[in-house]
Order: sequence, then C-alpha cells, then structure tokens
Amino acid sequence: MRKGTHVRTRKMSILVSLLCILGLVVTGVSMRSVKTAAKSAQGFCIVLDAGHGGFDPGAIGPGGVCEDGINLAIVKEAQVLLQERGYTVLLTRQDADALGQTKQSDMQQRRRMIMDSGCDLMISVHLNANADASCRGPVVLYRTGDEVSREAAQILQDALNEGLKIEKPRIIQTGEYFILRCTEAPSLIVECGFVSNAQEEALLSDPEYQTQVAQELVRGVDSAVRLWRERARPTPRNR
Ligand SMILES: [Zn+2]
Repeated sequence: MRKGTHVRTRKMSILVSLLCILGLVVTGVSMRSVKTAAKSAQGFCIVLDAGHGGFDPGAIGPGGVCEDGINLAIVKEAQVLLQERGYTVLLTRQDADALGQTKQSDMQQRRRMIMDSGCDLMISVHLNANADASCRGPVVLYRTGDEVSREAAQILQDALNEGLKIEKPRIIQTGEYFILRCTEAPSLIVECGFVSNAQEEALLSDPEYQTQVAQELVRGVDSAVRLWRERARPTPRNR
C-alpha cells in the first residue's frame, strides 16, 4: 500500500465498490472467466493478486524501487511453487500492465476475475510503506470479522516472521479493503515488507529474497490448507 493511505484506501474502497456495482449493472456480465476447467489433484484453487501495475507503481522506496514489479515477481515465484505442490493457481495480473485504464477499472477487473475463479483462497501481494522509515517486516491483513481468514493470516504471518528471521515480528491486522471483499473464500493481503525502509527496500529488490518470501508464503498456505483439511472441511468456503 502507499504510505499513510490506509484511511484513504478505505474511503477509496467504498468508492470503488460503488463504481463496481454501477459498472456491473451498466456493462452487464461480459465476464472473462479465469476458472480452469478442472481443479488440481488437490482440488484447491488459489488466486494470487499482484498489487498495482502499469500506471500505478504502488509505493516507491527511498532508492526509487517501485512496489508493483516486486509484487509480480513474488507472485510468479509463489505460483510456480504452489503449482508444483498440485494447487490450481490463477493470477489476476500476469505482467507489468494494469488491468484497466483507471484505478477503478483495474480494481473492477480484479474483482471480476476473483469472483469468476470460484477460488478457495485469495492472496493479494503488496509492499508496505510508512512515513516512519524505521518500520520494517511483513504484515498479513485479513477481512474484518472473518475467522477463517484471520486464522490463515496468523499462519502466514508466523511463517513469514520465522522463515525470514524477522527481528521485530509484526502482528496480523484487519481492515475493510476492497480486494478482501471480492469473494467469500478466505482472503488476505500480504504486505511483504516496507519498501520505505532502505534496508528492506534493498532486500525486497533481491531476487533471492523474493524467492524466500514466496517460499514462506507457500509454506504458510500449505499449513493453512492442511489444517482446514484435517477438520474435514470440503473447502473453507463451505464453512
Ligand atoms: Zn500496495
């Protein structure tokens, strides 16, 4: 997320939601289906959403590193790792381009893709930023009031904190974000680190660190799915 925009983001989310509803009514259902014909052997479908792109670079670090490219790199790494494990993985954004000409149309496209996917889990990947340049470490956000998303957020937060050996681990957060309201499936925003912190900006720019982030993210997903399966839930959506 951009620095200091959490409140603004919330207001924007409401605006985008309204615009989306309007857009769906006006344009009708010209939906581009992203659902694959058959789910994986494990029968578990994950949408990975690389935040920002194109006209919207997202947060920018003191060294000029933009969030959007790193989000995509981490998502692509995670996609490969998840597919190797047998998950069905769908990406909202496949390349550096945005999905629309404006922020509103971009978010509307993402929402449509997530809705169409019938996914079992949605993870939106971002980098954080704060006016306090000392802030660092990953933060996982979940949909307010959703216990299954909260549980998954905690598992992913623990995996990232432990696996990346974060000195001052952060805790999960909740909030009303547009991207967390696109499906009833568990939905998370993973802020992989603070691009506003010079050291973390350098780390996040390193392909090896991006791979580590993706590995820990996938480890967290595996743990969450295993937990849900042990409880004999057909899918978390059917809770
Ligand atoms: Zn962002």
